[in-house]
Order: sequence, then structure tokens, then C-alpha cells
Amino acid sequence: MTCDVFALANVGVQGLHPYQPGKPIEELQRELGLDSVVKLASNENPLGPSPVALAAAQTALKQMHLYPDASGFELKKKLAAKLGVSENQFTLGNGSNDVLDLIARAFLSAGSSAVFSQHAFIVYPIAVQAAGARAIITPAKNWGHDLVAMAAAIEPDTKVVFIANPNNPTGNYLDSDAVSAFLAKVPEHVIVVLDEAYVEFAEVADFPDGLGFLAQYPNVIVTRTFSKAYGLAGLRIGYGVSSPEIADLLNRVRAPFNVNIPAMSAALAVLDDHEYLRRSQQVNSAGMAQLCAGFNELGLAYIPSVGNFVAVELPCDALPVYQALLREGVIVRPVGVYQMPKHLRVSIGLEHENARFLIALRKLIEEGCFD
Ligand SMILES: *Cc1c(COP(=O)(O)O)cnc(C)c1O
Repeated sequence: MTCDVFALANVGVQGLHPYQPGKPIEELQRELGLDSVVKLASNENPLGPSPVALAAAQTALKQMHLYPDASGFELKKKLAAKLGVSENQFTLGNGSNDVLDLIARAFLSAGSSAVFSQHAFIVYPIAVQAAGARAIITPAKNWGHDLVAMAAAIEPDTKVVFIANPNNPTGNYLDSDAVSAFLAKVPEHVIVVLDEAYVEFAEVADFPDGLGFLAQYPNVIVTRTFSKAYGLAGLRIGYGVSSPEIADLLNRVRAPFNVNIPAMSAALAVLDDHEYLRRSQQVNSAGMAQLCAGFNELGLAYIPSVGNFVAVELPCDALPVYQALLREGVIVRPVGVYQMPKHLRVSIGLEHENARFLIALRKLIEEGCFD
């Protein structure tokens, strides 16, 4: 007799669809027999790892038979000094995705709700639904979060609001004034998550530093990651900064050894590799200019982005274009699951990678792929 295991699962889990990652390079090579593939699909750092971080991770592997320091003492100390907050305000995560999940697990359940925007990062609906809570999704404004609508959407059972700043996959951002005005309106018993996965790339004057809100608004949690500008996506390490009280709650649901030894060592090392961060930012802004100039030449609209990716709008359904680009050996990201069926999200790569993508795109246009 077989048992209906699906029926055993939590109702929220039953309705989940697995996260669709960017297509791995090796998979495309296998499928199409291509030797050279360019992946601009997962907002990874095109520079490769920081040499200092790599050396630190390699050294740390000698301790692989030991459990990691569950408290992350050294890393919290270093981050606290760098960011001007205390060690007890941190929650370390297996990527910041882990921290987002911890927030959902600590604060959400059946009978509560969370607010986030249309086109926002896909992990929010997954985390909310897995926790059994109700998602309240507000319509976007110019592809961005409408903070006025989000404040108005808060209901008596709302416990968490998720804001990605800059947002993925759109790349747009909310300025200091908009975020301040929003926080002033949110009831103090509602947690506001400011997800700053791309903060290092957002080098615009009116971009808010989420940490600056913590003193005035103890309901704020800022999440950050080593995956993007710091180039450690594969090691999985990120963190939350909040009031000590919130950090204490999150650390209660956190798995004790959720961040591994090489990840912590590499993170410690890369925080001192100022040259790597500077080059990441430089390569990104040059690549962004290159792609946007290319889109302008091709007559394609795009959403102005302060992240390390840009969403370009096609005059047609983007999925066949995504597939045709795969055949050219270029992996980008279709964003139909974000209700953006005509956009492709393209991560900023090295100059030759961006060029290869633009050449492939032009070829497809000339072949009538968009008609
Ligand atoms: C990439 C990303 C994250 C988290 O990435 P981790 O690798 O889990 O740290 C979080 N938020 C947004 C908006 C992202 O794009």
C-alpha cells in the first residue's frame, strides 16, 4: 500500500514550486555540445574569486573535520567594526537567502501575512508560503516597489514586509526619502526587511544605507550577502543586521552550523580585499554602460539598474529568444515567473562576455527572431 506522501506535507509546502536557478554552464555544454559558453544568468561576480579569499578558504579546508564556530565570533566582530553596529545585532546565514527564511520561520505562520511587491525577488513568496502565511502582493509602479501601496496594504495580521533595494530582477532602487517616509508609516509591530544583496553596486547619492534606519526603527532587519560583489556565491554566506532582540529570535531558529568554515574564512579575508571590491564595482559600471549602449543601438528598452544585472525588454515573448541565445552559447535569465514575460535579465559580465551576448542578440534580431 502506498501512502499519499503529498497529503502529509504542510499545505504551504504543497503549493510550492521549486526555485528555478540559472542554467549551469556544464549542462548547456552537455546538451548542445558547445565548447564555449557565457553565463550571464545568476548575477555572479565575473571576476572570479578574490585571490585572498580563495587562499583563505583553501587554508580553512584543513579544518574540515571540525564543526565550524557556531557563533561566527570572528566574522561578527569584524563586520560589527566595519559597519558600526554591535556583534549581538548579527544573524549569519547560509547565504542571505537563509536569513530571509529564518525571518519567515521566526515571524510567519498560518494566520499571518507578509507584504511584498509584484516583480520582487522570488524567494519572498517561497519563504512566506513555506511558512504557511498569506502573501499580500502590491502592484509595481514603473517596475519598482510602490511603497505607498505597500504601506497601505499592511493588514492587522501582517507581520513582515519584504523590500529588495535594489530589487532583483528589475535593478531599480528606492531612494532615502521614499524609504524614510515608508518606515515612518509602518506600525512598529511589523518587521521591515531591507534586502540589500546588491548594495555595493548601488553607487548613487540618494541610495539609503539601511543600517542607518536601525537606531530609529527597531523593527528593521537589513540583509546583506557575500554572494554578489564579494564573489562568494558558491560558499553560501550572508547575514542579517537588526536589533539584538530580533537577532536573538532569528538565532534561535538558525541551524547551529549553518555557515561552513571555508565560507567564514573567505568572508573574513575578502572584507580586507578592498582592491577586489573596487574592481568588481568598476567592471560592473563599465559593463552596465556597455550593455545599455548596446540596447540603445538595437532600439531595445531596458529598466535602469543600479545592480549587477539589467532587465532588457523585447518586442516579443522573451522565452524563444532565451532559447535561441542558448544555442548561441549565451545563458541569460528569462523572468516569466516574475510576471515579466517580455524581459530577459542579463547579469553584467566581463567586456568580452557582454560583447558576445550583444553580438548574439543582434544576430537573432537580424534573423527575424523577434518578428
Ligand atoms: C541574490 C539575492 C539574494 C541572496 O543571495 P544569497 O546568495 O542567498 O546571499 C537575496 N536577495 C536578492 C534580492 C538577491 O538577488
